[in-house]
Amino acid sequence: MSTNFSAPKGTFDTLPPDSATFLAIRESMTRTLRLAGYGYIETPIFEDTALFQRGVGESTDVVTKEMYTFTDKGGRSLTLRPELTAGLIRAAIEHNLYAGQLPVKLYSVGPNFRYEQPQAGRYRHFTQVDVEALGLDDPTLDAEVVALGVHAFAAVGITDFSTQLNTLGDRACRPAYRIKLQDFLRGLDLDDETRRRIELNPLRVLDDKRREVAAQVADAPLMVDHLCDDCRAHYDAVREQLAGLGISWTENPRLVRGLDYYTRTTFEYVHHRLGAQASIGGGGRYDGLSARLGGPDVSGIGWAIGIDRTLLALAAEDHVPKETARVVVFVVPLGAAARRRALPLATELRQAGVACDLVFGAKGLKGSMKAADRSGARYAVILGERDIADGVAQLKDLGSGQQRAVPLTDLVTTLKEQLP
Ligand code: AMP
Repeated sequence: MSTNFSAPKGTFDTLPPDSATFLAIRESMTRTLRLAGYGYIETPIFEDTALFQRGVGESTDVVTKEMYTFTDKGGRSLTLRPELTAGLIRAAIEHNLYAGQLPVKLYSVGPNFRYEQPQAGRYRHFTQVDVEALGLDDPTLDAEVVALGVHAFAAVGITDFSTQLNTLGDRACRPAYRIKLQDFLRGLDLDDETRRRIELNPLRVLDDKRREVAAQVADAPLMVDHLCDDCRAHYDAVREQLAGLGISWTENPRLVRGLDYYTRTTFEYVHHRLGAQASIGGGGRYDGLSARLGGPDVSGIGWAIGIDRTLLALAAEDHVPKETARVVVFVVPLGAAARRRALPLATELRQAGVACDLVFGAKGLKGSMKAADRSGARYAVILGERDIADGVAQLKDLGSGQQRAVPLTDLVTTLKEQLP
């Protein structure tokens, strides 16, 4: 019996040539981070389940509904990471990075897994670029991190988005506000699940997108009106720095992010031409996270940008990715002797830094030239029996059709001279 497999629900394959855009986004965004002194860190794709329960938060949708959790053969409960921050903080604590220069500046890129209802822009397997600046509570760092996200999008050509900014207070002012908010919410006409949320994570009710809920919470007390002096000064300083960098933002006093650990500066990058899943990135400061994971009681700030949604945003802005040629040169051997020479010649070109492919399989001249055209190469190097006997190859410009004989010994130099 034959079985046809397909990618699991909510997952997809990224194929050439689209995969080239994926890599280009990753490269441009991470270059922005390297230029600001962030170092690459790679952590395991699975971690102890308890790390996410504690790090992401027991009351979040991610932990209660969306984790891919399994027991390994040793009886450990492990979870495929639903986000990158908790693993990075775990690694920073485990390797005592806080003992070195502060802030600890890290970035990572990789897949995350959430059991969500798939739709355009929302997948069960998705890739994030993640940045974290750990160990210092300096508003200049908040401004740097928020600005880096804006610059990361600019680096890939995304312009039609806004940066939403809010502050969620800290452990000095949030508890009293939380009680005030709960009192207000308990008086509303809400369904049972939302009522439960009031007790667990009342701030989340504020950004409930359902119209009947949004209408009722329109008059809810807002964190920004209940900040302690330190939080207000911090928020003012962040905004002053952002303005100084020429970054514009929209204040959104109802912006509450899905994960539990955020305090103070919270932000989200929202694209204007995507539908329901318009958030292309977001993050914030998290003052208690390191301590909650058993590390020093220091703060951190970071963001995660979704590469998959960035690709959708690029398409929505009509940045159709250029069809990138796989190679620059395509070697076309004609006859048995030439076939033996083709791979060594292609290897020589590759080692000289020229992207090169060659004809495989038994193709005639017509089929071979078609393969050369389809590869997107600029030049074909045609090796005929007679050419080999004469020690030359025919160098054909596939754009203009012009062709000339070049001594085999000069081929690499000649091609390198022709190429930009
Ligand atoms: P979060 O980790 O939930 O704060 O999300 C940060 C960013 O990751 C979002 O703005 C999206 O760009 C991306 N993202 C989060 N969840 C998904 C998902 N299920 N599918 C695709 N991208 C996602």
